[in-house]
Amino acid sequence: MNLFSQMVSLGHQQVVFCQDEGVGLKSIIAIHDTTLGPALGGVRFWPYASEEEALIDVLRLSRGMTYKAAISGLNLGGGKAVIIGDPLQIKSEALLRRFGQFVEGLGGHYITAEDMGVSVKDMEFIRMETAYVTGLPEEMGGSGDPSPVTAYGVYLGMKAAWKKVTGTESLRAVKILIQGLGKVGMALAKLLHKEGASLYATDLSARQLEYAQKEYGLQPVSPDAWYNQPVDIFSPCARGGILNKDTIPHLRCAVIAGSANNQLADEVEDSLRLVDRGILYAPDFLINAGGLINVYTELEGYNRNRALARTEYIYEATLRVFTAAEQRGITPHEAAMRLAEERIRAISALRSRASISMFSLSSA
Ligand code: NAD
Repeated sequence: MNLFSQMVSLGHQQVVFCQDEGVGLKSIIAIHDTTLGPALGGVRFWPYASEEEALIDVLRLSRGMTYKAAISGLNLGGGKAVIIGDPLQIKSEALLRRFGQFVEGLGGHYITAEDMGVSVKDMEFIRMETAYVTGLPEEMGGSGDPSPVTAYGVYLGMKAAWKKVTGTESLRAVKILIQGLGKVGMALAKLLHKEGASLYATDLSARQLEYAQKEYGLQPVSPDAWYNQPVDIFSPCARGGILNKDTIPHLRCAVIAGSANNQLADEVEDSLRLVDRGILYAPDFLINAGGLINVYTELEGYNRNRALARTEYIYEATLRVFTAAEQRGITPHEAAMRLAEERIRAISALRSRASISMFSLSSA
């Protein structure tokens, strides 16, 4: 892979390779864009098959964070880090603290957080070496589990999509299928049950399904049959890539709105397929931004009510994306990407204007 041409084509500012043989650390930190603020994104500890695979992942994920922050109205840029190796085999206090030192060395351009393969305890070790950490547990003065805030954002994005399709935002008696009753899916089920939605759900775990059936009266659907289930709204809250050329032709819903990251297997082709099928897709990186909004709020001194109030922005932002898609004749996914880029450009221009007027004042 030609790294510099990849950085140019994806728009990355900086990629930092960090190693310390003594503790077994091999890490890559990718800073995509800091126009709006410091690059924030979690650190993923994963047994990548190759260094190239790790690099591709960190470049892709950090770019995604830029778009998520920008469309959510946050003053944050996009970044991400990966640590290469099997966490079960090589994770140690020394390795994590060494990673923290590298983060510290970036002087706040990159702020790290928890991601796959990294636990709350691990974040405590990283925090010992750097202040540029967010998403800490509540007992450490942090914001704790972001999932309820993520679920609230998904709920609001879903209401906006339903309003776009039917003219009403009420989800009472609306048939909704949730795929994945994990931390986000279960919190979403609770909100939707309270509103009187008619719930269906699928999960690989029978225990999760039984619990949700008892608490929220939802009807279980087999994990293999989700795309044949006739519903009004499908909410993917499990894994990515589930909207693809094989599943989209079978879908029987009017709206898709869920928390899973990267739901579209192919961002361009599959968002067009959904438009062709007449299904309104609420872009995942917009409506699942509640978790990011939550950690952003932590940077200012955490307050759950402020995080929830900020998350309410998702409702208006989702409607704005649908309107832009209609006006420009593009898919909602592309509209969300373009609006994010336009915000970055507008703020960048604002900064240039401010520095020109500072220069004029100082040279007058
Ligand atoms: P989780 O691990 O707590 O829950 C995932 C659930 O999905 C589990 O109950 C699992 O059994 C189920 N599942 C997995 N594969 C499935 C399948 N094929 N069919 C049905 N169910 C399946 O994860 P989470 O934190 O609830 O996150 C859910 C999704 O939302 C993930 O894609 C995550 O990246 C994304 N997300 C989460 C947050 C957050 O705040 N937790 C923020 C943004 C995005």
